[in-house]
Amino acid sequence: MTDTPPPFLPFALPEIGDEEIAEVVDSLRSGWVTTGPKARRFEQDFVAFLGDPSLHAVAVNSATAGLHLALEALGIGPGDEVITTTHTFTATAEVVRYLGADVKLVDIDPATLNIDPAAVEAAITPRTRALIPVHYAGLAADMATLGDTARRHGLAVVEDAAHALPTTHAGHLVGTLDSAATVFSFYANKTITTGEGGMLVTRDAALAKRAQVMRLHGMSRDAFDRFRSDKPSWFYEIVAPGFKYNLTDIAAALGLHQLKKARAFQARRAAIAEAYDAAFAGLPVITPPRPAEGDLHAWHLYVLRLADDVHVSRDTLIERLFAAGIGCSVHYIPLHLQPYWRDRYALLPEMFPHSQHAYERMLSLPIYTRMTDADVARVALAVREALR
Ligand SMILES: *Cc1c(COP(=O)(O)O)cnc(C)c1O
Repeated sequence: MTDTPPPFLPFALPEIGDEEIAEVVDSLRSGWVTTGPKARRFEQDFVAFLGDPSLHAVAVNSATAGLHLALEALGIGPGDEVITTTHTFTATAEVVRYLGADVKLVDIDPATLNIDPAAVEAAITPRTRALIPVHYAGLAADMATLGDTARRHGLAVVEDAAHALPTTHAGHLVGTLDSAATVFSFYANKTITTGEGGMLVTRDAALAKRAQVMRLHGMSRDAFDRFRSDKPSWFYEIVAPGFKYNLTDIAAALGLHQLKKARAFQARRAAIAEAYDAAFAGLPVITPPRPAEGDLHAWHLYVLRLADDVHVSRDTLIERLFAAGIGCSVHYIPLHLQPYWRDRYALLPEMFPHSQHAYERMLSLPIYTRMTDADVARVALAVREALR
């Protein structure tokens, strides 16, 4: 009578195919293991994927690095303020502090869990220089309103698109919108992965050039190119104290093939979201917000919220799912609750009522391409039983 329990279903797993493995092996055999031809090709393919040849793509070793480079290139520094959502990962905000500028955290729209444009408007001061919207879970932020606010106040917009490949806003892919820069993540659990990696995209040639120089020690390729004709190839110039943020060819080898699969990955994730939504109909839960008609949601996360009248707490629900062999997570513990941000800016939960309320009642369910239909059904059934 003893059933062997089903194996533990992790919260997230990457899907790495034979193509990726062969491409990595090819890099290893070629001897070109750091930044080289594959990183360059990954940048070119990324621009082709976004379908806008006026874009520049700068491959980096994380989205955090890309966000830092974008803000650095915009000249953000001490005395400046940058507005972003409290309902994000700390990377979105920490890069502002790297540059000595200050972070103004604002609340979310409870319907979308994205940054609330009205809260942004209210947080603008004469010191505000930039906004960092996050396309939370893979659903586009209200870029029309945020863009309008930014234009009226002369602010730069840097999109944190770590969740948003591929996501569209009013029919346009995130990455092609009207922002100073957009930064994608290829961290292990993101919609495509290079293990660690990121991509900064921009239409601003000067911003792209600065990011290219600063991602590799502040070495000026311009100078290199200028002197190439009359100097041997050992010559380079350091024009700034740059960083070490370049993407390796080993990582880019993964990215080349992951990118080709990004559309199919999105379709599978959307199908899982659809199946969850159907399975949770009638339960005392709030299913995730949907994109506008015709728009794409990247479905990096499937965030379920408990209705206000449920007797089961979020923590209990996660414990019950764990006992049933299902990994879950919470995205995010809002920044206003994290000691560093809370203490530095004297933040209180009452200042962020929508983020706080959502945080207390939310959990993220597994949603990834390697899940079978049976895995999805198992999660849905476990949620139903855990809520009983
Ligand atoms: C993952 C993530 C990042 C950081 O991405 P890395 O590539 O790990 O640096 C930034 N912002 C958000 C919202 C993320 O989820």
